[in-house]
Amino acid sequence: MGTNGEKQERERQAALNQALRREVNERRPENGEDAEVVRFVCECSDPVCEELVSLTIDEYEFVRRIPIRLVVRPGHEHHESERVLMEEPGRFLVVEKFGPAGEVVAHLDPRGPTRRRSRGQTGRSRDWHPPPR
Ligand SMILES: [Zn+2]
Repeated sequence: MGTNGEKQERERQAALNQALRREVNERRPENGEDAEVVRFVCECSDPVCEELVSLTIDEYEFVRRIPIRLVVRPGHEHHESERVLMEEPGRFLVVEKFGPAGEVVAHLDPRGPTRRRSRGQTGRSRDWHPPPR
């Protein structure tokens, strides 16, 4: 029964790969106002997948709002570490990752907690000393 760690490692690798694809999607230029549907790369765990998915900006934002959500082509979901949240038949699936793989993608969220962290604990970071006279 030594294969469990191996499997987890694989899932982690897959999740890393998926987080990378998400980065690619995040860096897509905002298409012009007239572009209602934008093409994004499939964020599935298959390292050689080159499929594209078409989403409206609203749909994409819906996916991105939660760090563990990814968008994949129908059939590209990976049931061992993802649950299907929403299906647009013929277009895309919204999946949520769970377990260790979910932690990986959540941690690498491009819109993630590193930006929100500064709230609350900033008060006393630097003591101010009055200059001696
Ligand atoms: Zn795919």
